[in-house]
Amino acid sequence: MHIFWHQRDLRIPDNRGLALAAKDEPTLPVSVVDPELLKQIGKRQRAFLLNGLRQLKRQYRKMGSDLLIRVGAPAETLGSLCAQYEADRVYYNRHYRPARRNRQRSVDDALPTKSVTDLVLVSPERLDSRYPNHSQFYNDWQDEHKLTPFDVPEKERLVSVSDDTGPPSITADIDLPTAGYPAARERFDQFMTAGIESYGDTRDDMRQAVEQPVGAVSRLSPYIAAGMIGVRELWAAASERYETARGSAQRNIDKFRYELSWREQNYHLLYYNPTLLVDNYKSFPNEIEWREDSDQLAAWKRGETGYPFVDAGMRQLNEEGYVHNRPRQIVASFLTKHLLIDWRKGANYFRKQLIDHDPANNYGNWQWTASTGTDSVDVRIFDPVAQMSKYDDGATYVTEYVPELRDVPADKIVDWPTLSRANRDRLAPDYPHPIVDRNEGYERAQRTFERALGKR
Ligand SMILES: Cc1cc2nc3c(=O)[nH]c(=O)nc-3n(C[C@H](O)[C@H](O)[C@H](O)COP(=O)(O)OP(=O)(O)OC[C@H]3O[C@@H](n4cnc5c(N)ncnc54)[C@H](O)[C@@H]3O)c2cc1C
Repeated sequence: MHIFWHQRDLRIPDNRGLALAAKDEPTLPVSVVDPELLKQIGKRQRAFLLNGLRQLKRQYRKMGSDLLIRVGAPAETLGSLCAQYEADRVYYNRHYRPARRNRQRSVDDALPTKSVTDLVLVSPERLDSRYPNHSQFYNDWQDEHKLTPFDVPEKERLVSVSDDTGPPSITADIDLPTAGYPAARERFDQFMTAGIESYGDTRDDMRQAVEQPVGAVSRLSPYIAAGMIGVRELWAAASERYETARGSAQRNIDKFRYELSWREQNYHLLYYNPTLLVDNYKSFPNEIEWREDSDQLAAWKRGETGYPFVDAGMRQLNEEGYVHNRPRQIVASFLTKHLLIDWRKGANYFRKQLIDHDPANNYGNWQWTASTGTDSVDVRIFDPVAQMSKYDDGATYVTEYVPELRDVPADKIVDWPTLSRANRDRLAPDYPHPIVDRNEGYERAQRTFERALGKR
């Protein structure tokens, strides 16, 4: 008998490790809820993952098996289960988060194991260890063969058991999407019908993001981050559609596949740089002189900076546990450049608030936006006013999340940080004034990074 140890792969379909385990021997599915690891996950995502475990258990039960859920340290817990069920090997899908790697190592040391790459389409080991930018990573990554999805094991290949233990229950402070593979697949089908063929054209259109959230983009991130849907399944379905599509539809589908390559690069980075979550990826000759400003940090967290696009992004984060990619970049740039506050403070706040928190994507993107990561531009500073003018000029997104501005004409919202104080008081007395001057913030960031880079 084999044991399959579920980690961030809460699904049965397209699960490589599970398919491999069940190929030769009856397999017993197990999840080990590790309180130490759980503590590092924000409460919202924790609740979503635990709902995912309950859903996974239901799926196994429909197949005449069951998911054994145990609480404890993985090496000891899996060891006792191996002894109890006389299992001769533990299979699992490798994860690259340092805390998970440590656990995987301790299980490898204690028990006979077999682990495989399932998290990404292309194993980092098949690529160079370092790329100067995304384009060069993408060129190599694109040339690599991608596996097709793995089949669901036959019912007979799963051990017939019944187990009453369930995961602990916790409640989140916001509504959560329905967890599990069926809901993930439903969302993906919706996106395949309503969005993928126009994805590249609409993904940055903030009006569309409000009016048709699944369509403008896929909103699959909570599911992908929890492994509730496999990345091969997404790739294969998009690629099949790509083959039959023509013209702009084909270009748009390709853009969706291209975005998945950013996730792949972030995992590649984490694989080769386990300190990505805590240390600058890029080395600087001089220290970056981050500012300590707890009031401004708190205003940023609340979405009260007086920069409408930034505030809408932060309020979406606080209210939904999700933020569209464009405002994610704007809020991260604003914190690390205009406010000059350390990216680690922003990334950790995201970790607590996001339902789709993904260690590689979160810290990789924060570092990219903070200019401490893989961006080939030395200092990139997003102008929150110009960005709103380009992507939300009708203020649909901003007014969705910032009610204080609903009676203000859109062009005035776009220009808000540049209006006079008296004008702002007249137009929206309840909405904050900018906490930093737009040009001063920009220039201070430019100077600080140039000093860190040794250019001043
Ligand atoms: C500061 C910052 C923090 C981020 N933190 C996270 C995070 O914790 N978890 C997370 O999944 N993504 C993160 N992202 C990346 C991106 O914003 C989200 O993946 C995306 O907005 C999720 O929405 P979606 O599923 O509708 O994306 P879609 O546009 O539909 O894309 C589909 C999938 O492709 C991947 N993807 C798309 N864009 C990116 C990107 N720029 N980088 C990496 N992968 C991408 C994701 O898996 C996403 O679910 C972050 C980006 C920034 C700038």
